[in-house]
Amino acid sequence: DAVQSRMELEMDLRDALQNDEFFLVYQPTFDLRTMSPTGMEALIRWNHSVRGVVQPDDFIPLLEEIGLIGEVGRWVLKEACRQGAAWHAAGYPVGMAVNVSALQLDTDEFLTDIQDALTASGFDPSTLTIEITETALMSNAEETAVRLTAVKQLGVRIAIDDFGTGYSSLAYLQRFPVDALKIDRSFISRLTQDQEGETLIRTLVQLGKSLSIETLAEGIEESSELSLLKEEECDSGQGFLFARPLDLAACESFLHDWIGSDSD
Ligand code: C2E
Ligand code: MG
Ligand code: MG
Repeated sequence: DAVQSRMELEMDLRDALQNDEFFLVYQPTFDLRTMSPTGMEALIRWNHSVRGVVQPDDFIPLLEEIGLIGEVGRWVLKEACRQGAAWHAAGYPVGMAVNVSALQLDTDEFLTDIQDALTASGFDPSTLTIEITETALMSNAEETAVRLTAVKQLGVRIAIDDFGTGYSSLAYLQRFPVDALKIDRSFISRLTQDQEGETLIRTLVQLGKSLSIETLAEGIEESSELSLLKEEECDSGQGFLFARPLDLAACESFLHDWIGSDSD
């Protein structure tokens, strides 16, 4: 059954892009000092005709396996930049973060894809952040450092996603042009459980400070977690406590409330 289901999913996935079945939801990030929103992270969803909405963990690995991640990744970049530019034009100066797979990073098209998405949308490069997992960075470190430097030269920001779960060499961390560390959710959920959890967060935040890299805590769900993160002077955060990933309509009202309350 599992094999059958996988084969079906794979076949459907091959048509999904053409059938316009992918869409993006956006999860806001916040400045923990001022508590004001700083940007949105674009997260892909697949609207399957029978299964309904499929989550990325259930189809991104499959896209990578069947060699379609490049094409879909290109679409995500384009769509996120288009939406970001539209929000800027509407008076919402939000940053936009886009997740990128290790396989995208391994190709020469990666740089062109980012350039194309920026040119087509007119989105300001300094407000775009590319998120790369730690594991992806380290899989081909030498080449990755060269590619990321080229991306950086476009003026785009770079963040390491799920930081702390992979196998990072601190020496490399300094060689990659990294702007932000997104501290993995597992560290945040440990935070209020024991003293060690707090010590780990302190260490990660201090690491960011020493290297002048922004730290962003992922998956903040409890206000007790938020208080501790503020105490440790973690720069920014994201999580269900603030906002879940939002569809377009919810984003519009979120942005409206934010800008509205700013000008009040
Ligand atoms: P990620 O980039 O680390 O994204 C964060 C994930 O954690 C999202 O799941 C988000 O919904 C979830 N999350 C956020 N706040 C909380 C919280 O407070 N509690 C809990 N329990 N979860 C929270 P999602 O959207 O299912 O995405 C999963 C992963 O799929 C992402 O992890 C990212 O690695 C990948 N992904 C998503 N969109 C794309 C994409 O366009 N391209 C690529 N290559 N990967 C993507
Ligand atoms: Mg991410
Ligand atoms: Mg993450």
